[in-house]
Amino acid sequence: MALAEISARIAAAERAAGRPEGAVTLIAVSKVQPLDRVVAVLEAGHRIFGENYVQEAAGKWPSLRERFAGTSVHMIGPLQTNKAKTALELFDALHTLDRPSLAEKLARLVQIRGTCPELFVQVNTGAEPQKAGILPDQADDFIRACALMDLPVAGLMCIPPEGEDSAPHFRMLAAIAARNGVAGLSMGMSGDFESAIAHGATHVRVGSAIFGARSYA
Ligand SMILES: *Cc1c(COP(=O)(O)O)cnc(C)c1O
Repeated sequence: MALAEISARIAAAERAAGRPEGAVTLIAVSKVQPLDRVVAVLEAGHRIFGENYVQEAAGKWPSLRERFAGTSVHMIGPLQTNKAKTALELFDALHTLDRPSLAEKLARLVQIRGTCPELFVQVNTGAEPQKAGILPDQADDFIRACALMDLPVAGLMCIPPEGEDSAPHFRMLAAIAARNGVAGLSMGMSGDFESAIAHGATHVRVGSAIFGARSYA
């Protein structure tokens, strides 16, 4: 299946970049995919998945997690503040910490729960008005503010503008991470994950190249 091919391409990209084998975590983005395709990838042994919608994940993952031990699910879509509590119950990682109000809400919930998911700050590297994320020139302050709220920032995440070369955006994200002492870089999708790995991605989010095209019908 395509999973094996993508895993092999990731390994080759790691080698080409002079990075250790296994340096990059593959997040299989299963949003909107039919259940049989998701189960096939689980049966092939993959255990790390990405979802965009709280509701969809809530309907799918609790039972799949019972069937397939050791599965982790990452939230990679925009998160409404009023769904933050449910998200903490569902997800092991959150890639879309994109605004102060969400950070404040998460900080309160994390204190009560006593556990924190792996957190990635989404940076709007293209400064696109319709796109979520902290603007690049505000990222340093936001990362510092999260730390002051006892929210450990594990990494940064970006979605480069469509139809543009992703490389400058990957470089920008890596530079923001480096100057803030942040280790994780969630960047690269089906069309550009090899370039992302060359630029230091620690997590790539690959959907259609593994599962096939999404049908939103
Ligand atoms: C859907 C999605 C992906 C996966 O996209 P593909 O092009 O199918 O690999 C990755 N990241 C985010 C944030 C997404 O919403």
